[in-house]
Amino acid sequence: MKPTIRLGKIAGLQIGVHYTLLLAVALITWTLAEGFFPDAFPGWSRVAYWLTSVVAALLLFVSVLVHEMAHSLVARSRGLPVEGITLFLFGGISSLSAESRSAGEEFVVAVVGPLSSLVLAVLFGAAYLASSGNNSPVTAVLAYLALVNGMLGLFNLLPGFPLDGGRVLRAAIWGATHNLYKATRVASTIGQAVAFAFIAWGVFQVLTGDVLGGLWIAFIGWFLNGAAESSRQETSVQEALRGVRVAEVMDHHPETTSPSMGVDVLVREFFLHHGKRALPVEEVGQLVGIVTITDAKEVPPDRWPFTRVSQIMTTSPLYSVTPDSTVAEALRSLAERRLNQLLVMSNGSIVGMISRENIIQYLQLMSDYGVWKKPGILQRLGQ
Ligand SMILES: [Zn+2]
Repeated sequence: MKPTIRLGKIAGLQIGVHYTLLLAVALITWTLAEGFFPDAFPGWSRVAYWLTSVVAALLLFVSVLVHEMAHSLVARSRGLPVEGITLFLFGGISSLSAESRSAGEEFVVAVVGPLSSLVLAVLFGAAYLASSGNNSPVTAVLAYLALVNGMLGLFNLLPGFPLDGGRVLRAAIWGATHNLYKATRVASTIGQAVAFAFIAWGVFQVLTGDVLGGLWIAFIGWFLNGAAESSRQETSVQEALRGVRVAEVMDHHPETTSPSMGVDVLVREFFLHHGKRALPVEEVGQLVGIVTITDAKEVPPDRWPFTRVSQIMTTSPLYSVTPDSTVAEALRSLAERRLNQLLVMSNGSIVGMISRENIIQYLQLMSDYGVWKKPGILQRLGQ
């Protein structure tokens, strides 16, 4: 998930906010101001309820941030690259750009999030008890934060992937069987069961009168189901690609173009006639850039005859893999950088290109030969 707004860095972690977070803050503020606080702490003015609710909703997301920072900081201390944290509608996501390398590592990184939420619950609970007996907004906010952090900790400990509890479960199965794929399959299947339970519970709530609360729960279930399903599919692809090298899948004879070529010729000859989506640009045998359909599209067609490849090509960074890299690594690199193709370089010269289409074709062939049966994901990979 890409953040809509970047808030800055805390402890070297890039903190961002997705626009859906605003919706969550608004919804939570509303339910607190019109329900929770007036019920539990009667007698304040309407303005006091709303102001307290805004503060409480914002502090809830600060609590979520603490939870995510616990994941990220522990991951980083173990040498895993961490990109940052994005807060969104349902809480937070830590962008860890690499998966854990061992079951023990996965376990620690996963469990520390819910633990930090539970610690916050205890701290806020203690502060609430110390101040209880008075009906002030501060007491009310402490009570709410104790409650909501407790719920957050327990919810995340549910044993379904992709929740933290699911990761803990996956780490346990992984440790016991030494098979990450099997562990992911089991944990995401349980994750889907948890998700369906949420949807069923949400529907039940709606039917018994709590429309907003029920929809919210069902929506969380729907989100969890999608996340569990995609991690299962990803595992299936990784399993199919296990041990396959870039050299086996890549285009061995990529056509190249020159910086001085006109964009009109590029589009007609290479993109339209040869069905290429991207070409390396070479000048006297040296790679100088890469040019794609997207680059050409940024120039109005009537300007194509007057524009040269050198004016639209990307010169840096030029991402590449080696022929010996695994296809799984190439796919990860494509996904992370939202690219469609990578150069394949060996000893400083181009030996091929690998694109999403190459990988999809390979998986399609595996599927056609009955080696692998998950064609459903092919469409998603192509995006
Ligand atoms: Zn977590």
